[in-house]
Amino acid sequence: MVINVMKNISIWQDTVNNNDKYDSLKENLDLDVLIIGGGITGCSTFYQFKDDNIKVALVEKNRLGSGASSRSSAKLTFLQENIYTKLTNIFGKDKAHLYYKSQKEALENIYNIINKENIDCDLKVSNSYLYTINSTNIKKIEEEARILSSFNEKITFISQLPNKTKIESGFYVDNTYTFHPLKFIKEIVKKSISSNHMVYENTKIIKIEKQKDYFKCFTSNNTIKAKKVILALHYPYFLFPYLMPLKCYLEKSFLTCSLIKDKYEFNAINIEKPLKSIRYYNNYLLMVSSSTNLAFASNSEKMVKDLVNNTNIDNYDYIWSNYDLITLDHLPLVGFIDNNLLISTGYNTWGNTNGVLASFIIKDLIYNKNNIYQELFDPKRGFNRQKIINYPLNIFSSAYSFVDSKINKNKAFYQNNPYFTKRDGKNIAIYKDNKGIEHIVYNKCPHLKCSLVFNKVEKTWDCPCHGSRFDIDGNCIMGPSKYNIGYK
Ligand SMILES: Cc1cc2nc3c(=O)[nH]c(=O)nc-3n(C[C@H](O)[C@H](O)[C@H](O)COP(=O)(O)OP(=O)(O)OC[C@H]3O[C@@H](n4cnc5c(N)ncnc54)[C@H](O)[C@@H]3O)c2cc1C
Repeated sequence: MVINVMKNISIWQDTVNNNDKYDSLKENLDLDVLIIGGGITGCSTFYQFKDDNIKVALVEKNRLGSGASSRSSAKLTFLQENIYTKLTNIFGKDKAHLYYKSQKEALENIYNIINKENIDCDLKVSNSYLYTINSTNIKKIEEEARILSSFNEKITFISQLPNKTKIESGFYVDNTYTFHPLKFIKEIVKKSISSNHMVYENTKIIKIEKQKDYFKCFTSNNTIKAKKVILALHYPYFLFPYLMPLKCYLEKSFLTCSLIKDKYEFNAINIEKPLKSIRYYNNYLLMVSSSTNLAFASNSEKMVKDLVNNTNIDNYDYIWSNYDLITLDHLPLVGFIDNNLLISTGYNTWGNTNGVLASFIIKDLIYNKNNIYQELFDPKRGFNRQKIINYPLNIFSSAYSFVDSKINKNKAFYQNNPYFTKRDGKNIAIYKDNKGIEHIVYNKCPHLKCSLVFNKVEKTWDCPCHGSRFDIDGNCIMGPSKYNIGYK
């Protein structure tokens, strides 16, 4: 099968104005609050302090919005597969309802910010559909609908999707949205900058040291002293003592975007595997599929083939991948993990609502105010005993990736290009582009030394263990690695 693809970046990256650039940090700073990571979480949190008389900086290792936030399907919805059934089963109805309330509140907050600040980010009202194409899953649909109805949510059952897709069962809810995530991120940051509210791009924090009553954070050239630090960096790689890596795992998915003839305004997700989530953006159909634990997601070409197999689309204008952190109990991790050190992550692929919601929670916590969601999302919470079984599974999946990356993957997928060899006693990989130019990298992730796997679809080097990604010249574009892998 030949898949015609025009671009391997997301449609959001391709359709945003990239003129607003920020300098990298060139001096030492003394701050009240340091926010590390310029995705939807970090940028929304920066916005929260906009009118406050405190000194705040937002630092981003690449460009603002260059991480997971630039690669999502950008739905803004509280209908998140059958999350309320899952939460009811684990925590009971009250907590499931509290999560529902948090997502509704997040939607209202996003809507209010966009209106108040007059942000042009292609916000569209878009009903959200949950459906199944499999008769064995009808009960699951009915159960999710029953729980939502018990929260007084209006549910409308349907027999087909608005684009005439036949289904076995499904329903929709209204008052949900879609938007352009990068337009949103860039604008809220622009509106929040002042002499005491600074933004630095291309500024990577490589070390954080706890001092008596502040944190000392290091970039390669400067230090930042901050009374409070917010880790909005998606993957909390240096938090092993808090068992973060055991409480979650990374899931990888591919997304496609194709021009279509008919224009619709709705979004939908099915309840079974393989997942198929869709939304529309202008004349494009955006699809997410083939989500899988990162440990088992090394064959990018196969993932994309699986994705396109069940469609009648031949031309894809965009294909790209994205990762998100999945928590074992389906709830995000937001709040203090140490005195004056906060994190926000683990959004289970729903980080647009949860990233903005987190910014409100974080603001309350920073000012010592109670927030009704702080206990629900507490990152130090113990995990439900039934789920403890997954801890060893998580260790296993990382260990599996590590071993498999060493012995199998590259050999299995690529005999010639990229070509793997040794130079100066180190493993290197040579990739020849279509002009015949060689791009050489060290074939090892600087983070925890996993062998990297070449992602033939997007032409990147991907770490199968913890999700670091590098371009063909070895520059780190995503994930926990602090270093590049370019061969000098
Ligand atoms: C396939 C897929 C589809 C999705 N679709 C949706 C959707 O429709 N709706 C929805 O709500 N959510 C969706 N999500 C989830 C959403 O994309 C993420 O949860 C969200 O973008 C995470 O935002 P973030 O700010 O936490 O992380 P990021 O956007 O990754 O931001 C973290 C930033 O921190 C920076 N950083 C990291 N380390 C450092 C450092 N040491 N120093 C400085 N900067 C650093 C990174 O460069 C990055 O820019 C989807 C996820 C996937 C995988």
